[in-house]
Amino acid sequence: MTVLSGGCLCGALRYEARSPPLRVTLCHCRFCQRVTGSSHLVEPLFARDDLHVTAGTPTVYRHRSDGSGRHLDLHFCAVCGTTLFMTFERFPGLCGVYAGTLDDPAAIEVRPDNAKQVFVASARPEAVLLPGLATFDGPAMDAAGQPQAPFVHDALHLVGRRGNEPFPGGIGESQPG
Ligand SMILES: [Zn+2]
Ligand SMILES: [Zn+2]
Repeated sequence: MTVLSGGCLCGALRYEARSPPLRVTLCHCRFCQRVTGSSHLVEPLFARDDLHVTAGTPTVYRHRSDGSGRHLDLHFCAVCGTTLFMTFERFPGLCGVYAGTLDDPAAIEVRPDNAKQVFVASARPEAVLLPGLATFDGPAMDAAGQPQAPFVHDALHLVGRRGNEPFPGGIGESQPG
């Protein structure tokens, strides 16, 4: 049964997920900023076996992490350049989808019980962090696999600029952490 479907900009690549995501990561790291060309990646994680490419064959770019030395594979369309999902040397049973490629943008729910936001130390100044979610300055787990301690914002949190200058436009000032 297809639960979710998506594809690239030109339509050459299509995929289906046959179960709901296991969890969702909102990632503000520099890698995700570069790959998406945007502020952060919304990444629903599926069991690898539940994600099926139903049209076309993705091209793979293998990226080796400076930090861990492990690689991850970006699966993208060679025609239009859209990245659809990534797979991981470190977590072979998982597949992280680029949520912007889903047919229904509202298909993925982000809730305190299924989502976390990570690498917020490199979040863009105008990024807004969600309340109630486990939040991490860096990764949720270090390179040795040790879980890191999260913090939680109790209200919407505007990242703002370093030094906490007021954000232009009257949106208001935010406090770090
Ligand atoms: Zn395409
Ligand atoms: Zn990231």
